[in-house]
Amino acid sequence: MAFIFANALISWHAKHGRVGMPWQNKRDPYAIWVSEIMLQQTQVSTVSERYLLFMKRFPTLSSLANAPIDDVMALWSGLGYYSRARNLHRCAQKIMSEHSGKFPRDLDALESLPGIGRSTAGAIVAFAYDVHAPILDANVKRVLSRFHGIEGDLQDRETIKQLWVRAQAQLPKVSIKMPIYTQALMDFGATWCTPKQARCISDEARCPMMNNCLAYQTNRVDKIPAKKKKSASPSFQTSIFLIQSGEFILLERRAPKAIWGGLYSLIELPWEPQSKDIALMTVRNARKILSKTLLGDKALDIDFKQIMSVQTSSVIQHVFSHRRLQMYPYLVSLNQKWTISHPNLIWIKRANIAEIGLPQPIRVFLESSSR
Ligand code: SF4
Repeated sequence: MAFIFANALISWHAKHGRVGMPWQNKRDPYAIWVSEIMLQQTQVSTVSERYLLFMKRFPTLSSLANAPIDDVMALWSGLGYYSRARNLHRCAQKIMSEHSGKFPRDLDALESLPGIGRSTAGAIVAFAYDVHAPILDANVKRVLSRFHGIEGDLQDRETIKQLWVRAQAQLPKVSIKMPIYTQALMDFGATWCTPKQARCISDEARCPMMNNCLAYQTNRVDKIPAKKKKSASPSFQTSIFLIQSGEFILLERRAPKAIWGGLYSLIELPWEPQSKDIALMTVRNARKILSKTLLGDKALDIDFKQIMSVQTSSVIQHVFSHRRLQMYPYLVSLNQKWTISHPNLIWIKRANIAEIGLPQPIRVFLESSSR
């Protein structure tokens, strides 16, 4: 079975594999690693453009390791799942300091690095070094569960264990085929054996796996993998304060573990229902509310009498994968900039916001509020 699967997949790839993606056919483990991390949770169309920008700014492992984290976060802005960017940076520094700047070939060593899981490690060594190491990302899990007729929940440990065994067993015999096989498996899962449109049950084309695919042979393609019932995503609210003085705005770097950790954003406070009412958000209220956080948490010496006006703006909605966020913005104008020396607070010119890492909805809000 292993022989059939790998060879059929490689032949399929020659005709139907994806072409033109900028990270394809690379042997440099650094370039492979960056693309693998970017492609986690981000669509190919988005990554295609952003990958080239990233590689232009950080063409080598050492250039990434030596860059300020703020530069990395700025370039990651809009890609989401920002822990990936922080881990890329930490990982690059670790490889420089602990592996003399060379990507390990050893899977265990790779997996011990920040942000590199077993599947990513497999992809790196298969593409870069022809190592017989399987991958098992979400697309591959679906392909293998259908091909082998495995019905278990794809999040379940036991199911994942079974899939790793299958993934290992059906690798090509010859290691030199590992890069093309790995790419073929990725392409097949992304374009052919897809969640809703498996080619074997559409009229578009025959699938080369049909005669050996258990899901197809037992008429269970639309049942494997098992669909999970979606629960309603919870929502939460915050108040955000766009504090501005002339051409400057005040930003705060978010805590590493917070949502959008490490990015700069507006001062944020827990939302209080009554504060969304413009009639209640007076200058005096804004002074009181801001003084609680800016004087309390950050021990700053600020003159709140410099707040001249406060306006509200339309609520900003943002949807994460598992929850929804509503942000209630307040535009606070000062008659002069506060003197700030807190390490996580900065004044920045509006004209320069493209240079720093901001959450995408905050960037859009700042751009629209300056018009
Ligand atoms: S036969 Fe259908 S379900 Fe099986 S691998 Fe091919 S596309 Fe996927």
